[in-house]
Amino acid sequence: MGFKNRNKKLKWVLLLTVVLAVVAAVFILPGKGKPKPNVVVILIDTVRADHTSIHGYERDTTPNLKRIAKKGLKLENYFVNSPWTKPSVASIISGLHPTCHGSRVGQFDEMELYVVGTAKVEILNSKIETMAEILKKNAFSTHAYITNYHLTPRFGYHQGYNHYNFNGAGSDKKIVCGTDRDAIYNAMKILETRKGKPVFIWCHLMAVHGYCYPPDFDKFKPGSSPTLTPIPANAFQKRRVQEYDSIEEAVCSYDNAIFYSDALVGEFFDFICTKAPDTILIVTSDHGEEFYEHGGFEHCRTLYNEILKVPCVIYGPGVPTGVFTGLSDSIDLLPTIMKNLGIKISSDLRGQILFEQNQVSREGKKEIFAEQHYRGLNLRFALFRDGKKMIINQHKLTREISREFYHDGLVIEKENVFPTADKDIIKIFERRINRHKTVNKNYFRKKVGRPTYKNLSPEDIKHLRSLGYIE
Ligand SMILES: [Zn+2]
Repeated sequence: MGFKNRNKKLKWVLLLTVVLAVVAAVFILPGKGKPKPNVVVILIDTVRADHTSIHGYERDTTPNLKRIAKKGLKLENYFVNSPWTKPSVASIISGLHPTCHGSRVGQFDEMELYVVGTAKVEILNSKIETMAEILKKNAFSTHAYITNYHLTPRFGYHQGYNHYNFNGAGSDKKIVCGTDRDAIYNAMKILETRKGKPVFIWCHLMAVHGYCYPPDFDKFKPGSSPTLTPIPANAFQKRRVQEYDSIEEAVCSYDNAIFYSDALVGEFFDFICTKAPDTILIVTSDHGEEFYEHGGFEHCRTLYNEILKVPCVIYGPGVPTGVFTGLSDSIDLLPTIMKNLGIKISSDLRGQILFEQNQVSREGKKEIFAEQHYRGLNLRFALFRDGKKMIINQHKLTREISREFYHDGLVIEKENVFPTADKDIIKIFERRINRHKTVNKNYFRKKVGRPTYKNLSPEDIKHLRSLGYIE
């Protein structure tokens, strides 16, 4: 072989080596030597745990979640950190508590809206790193199918997506069912046509939020319903509830909508089992719904467990099978995914690693916190600890404070025992909540600075009104 030919061959070898090195660096887990799995989060908006059969509900609303849990991991005591979409989803995608990520306040006051014509809302600041941004940085192709207006670029939730799709249907029940189905089918299409890069998909379903389901899913009917809390006098006033003759009817629609969403999830699960087995699937919710257990309806305003306790099942490569009975919450999901993908976890994240390479973590958290800042005037903080729960309610202007304490803190709260509770235990809970507030406020100040607000536009108001957020 002549010198010229040898030189040419050497060039080719070098080129091939460089190409292989780039492919390895981009597509292979750092230090793990394995291709990265895809990650899909299906978030079914507004599902309370005790209305899912996977959590023992007497109506079989979630046969497919049960199937997934049999092959994956079910989180038995999983709570969200906030009672409505915007802050709760921000906690899932940032791994931070609401005061840390700063996207908390929905609308100040409806009076402000009517008198001034607009209202300020907090948005997710670009300095807060999201799940999509982190995965994109780690060679994922990132896609969002969003059906909830709160998660649009208007409020900063598009950060990190290669492809962001908003397909909101407002209150049109028929269209909502269709947009949810489209979100699931689009996610399947992305997985089916993926090339090389692993994909991250966020799929947000709104049928349960609007109590929507196609006629085929009209399974649960009044008369067969579980025992419901009687409606307090004058409570049945809300515009969205007026379409139902009774709370029993509203609950049937809500349960049927869960049954429909579960069927969509089941279709997706069957798809990944056959067509994309290299996929980690997380199915969860952002908050529950009140049916007058504590005097209220819908969600946003309180921190009771009908709002905070939601289902969460995880399935896929590296995910153990079984039930995680320890305490877990929304801020655990991001660090858990990162750990299992071999991505370095920032020290800012305080969530626990739920599992690693087919092994469940031995214990859950000692304590978890939830926050409510919905109207900006009523602040609420909750702490779960040692199976107990404390809620502190505070009015921002009058500074008036009320406290609640529950001995059985992991189920729907029945009796507020604050007046007779052990004062030393109360002191510990209160100290922990105050510390949580201070530490998180300081974190936000250092990381972001001042809260970022946006004035609602007439278009925003139209969308939020159609979802029932503005009367
Ligand atoms: Zn929501």
